[in-house]
Amino acid sequence: MLGQMMQGNLLISSLIDHAGRYHTSTEIASVEMDGSVSRSNWGEVQRNSKRLASALTKMGLKTSARCATIAWNNRRHLEIYFGVSSAQFVCHTINPRLFPEQLVYIVNHAEDEVLFIDATFLPLAAALKDKMPTLKAIILMGPRDEAALESVPELQFYDEFIETGDENFVWPDFDENTASSLCYTSGTTGNPKGVLFSHRSTMLHSFAAALPDCIGFSARNIVLPVVPMFHVNAWGTPYAAAMVGCQLVLPGPGLDGSSLLKLIDAEQVDIALGVPTIWQGLLMAAKDSGSTLSSLKRTVVGGSACPPSMIDTFRDVYGVDLIHAWGMTEMSPLGTSNQPLAKHAMLPIEAQRKLRENQGRPPYGIELKIVDENGKDLPCDDVAQGDLLVRGPWVLSGYFKPERDDELRDGWFDTGDVARIDADGYMTICDRSKDIIKSGGEWISSVELENIAVAHPDLLEAAVIGAAHPKWDERPVLVAVKAEGCDPKPDDLIAFFDGKIASWQKPDAVVFTDALPRNATGKVLKRNLRDEFGQVLMG
Ligand code: ADP
Repeated sequence: MLGQMMQGNLLISSLIDHAGRYHTSTEIASVEMDGSVSRSNWGEVQRNSKRLASALTKMGLKTSARCATIAWNNRRHLEIYFGVSSAQFVCHTINPRLFPEQLVYIVNHAEDEVLFIDATFLPLAAALKDKMPTLKAIILMGPRDEAALESVPELQFYDEFIETGDENFVWPDFDENTASSLCYTSGTTGNPKGVLFSHRSTMLHSFAAALPDCIGFSARNIVLPVVPMFHVNAWGTPYAAAMVGCQLVLPGPGLDGSSLLKLIDAEQVDIALGVPTIWQGLLMAAKDSGSTLSSLKRTVVGGSACPPSMIDTFRDVYGVDLIHAWGMTEMSPLGTSNQPLAKHAMLPIEAQRKLRENQGRPPYGIELKIVDENGKDLPCDDVAQGDLLVRGPWVLSGYFKPERDDELRDGWFDTGDVARIDADGYMTICDRSKDIIKSGGEWISSVELENIAVAHPDLLEAAVIGAAHPKWDERPVLVAVKAEGCDPKPDDLIAFFDGKIASWQKPDAVVFTDALPRNATGKVLKRNLRDEFGQVLMG
């Protein structure tokens, strides 16, 4: 017997229709290219996304045509998110920090037909457009700009383009499994790989993201996604924000600590999301300016491991709850977030704090497990560590136009991370499997050592790599960047680990460098560090 309830496709158009109808006047503040703040609202975003959809449809694009963006977090980008996907095209967000060859590869691999760009990226588009034969239109995200036409003569202008569309455009209805957006992983090795999200996966991910134990969005929040809209859809924030109808503050190009600080204080932001390096910049700016970040209640941190010292500073100095979350492009991206359970309230305060340091537990919808090298399940006892596998309705089932078939492992996706999990499902990422240090048959987590090192006041940043060792195969070496005006001694840095980890896990040596090499998504390129310092213990 079937239930007797209405059927309906879970489509992204329903999100913007909901926000446009029930949160019409809720503000979207957006930092423009010149630093000014423009104010729009969900009603206007809905109208403009319909105009855009109508204009793109009039262009004659076919279903599932890819429309790319190279853009900051701003209101036009938000309209493109909803307009493109809702009209049954695919919104392909591109990371501008990629090497030009990778960017060209991605556009050609995706067969992008339309490219939306912010003015910052005009030179990039001018230099590369001839290598992108599938493009039919390049659209500058702003009003008409005669000067811009000099570098790209065929350029169109967003504000004029959407004027050709109809704000009463009727969204098409189609299968919820249809592709909605596309995002390439940064590809530290080999070519970038495309992750193709569907309307259904995006909708389910949004429900989960908004849950109180995940990010916890509501119509009462003023949300600042610092995580870029070109990095896994800003962790799904635009969709979840439309679902609940919260206020959004979109930071545009100014992502340095002091710009963010001013924005948070001026717009009274209460939830902000970003990677650890962003918050490091914010904390430095707050310290310098004396701001107390009075409006901020919660920051969500993920993308790489968040050092416990950062959680402490946010809580103890600013009264901000830092939520450590983990995920990946292949998971839309949310996999886990660290929020406590009711029983934890009984624990001594120090134990409660300790529990908040790991990457957290999965929301409904995501399953996690760890396996050994033979694929055998390992216990969730917070001791055993193994390859982390995941599954769920917003986890990738295969890459877009793959070069080779990346089979799932018995229906599970192999994250490439090594983790341990406790009985309640709280997960600790020990390392990327390729970065874990294998010392004489024992594993040492580079992440754990880095978390300790960055708390040293004389260090700005730190990474730990496995360096070749004649006896132990690999031993940890600390690659350290000194804080301004500081000159720490290697022995003192190594002594800093005393009592914090087992003595055999302490780094064997310290090397100093000026800055850590990072990839386009801000992750430290350990491979480059291994190339440079991987032989320092070989004498
Ligand atoms: P990329 O394109 O570089 O793969 P992703 O954002 O998809 O970018 O990166 C996912 C990876 O980032 C994860 O597999 C994990 O190794 C790392 N990561 C993400 N969040 C965390 C976290 N909170 N702690 C530790 N590592 C993290």
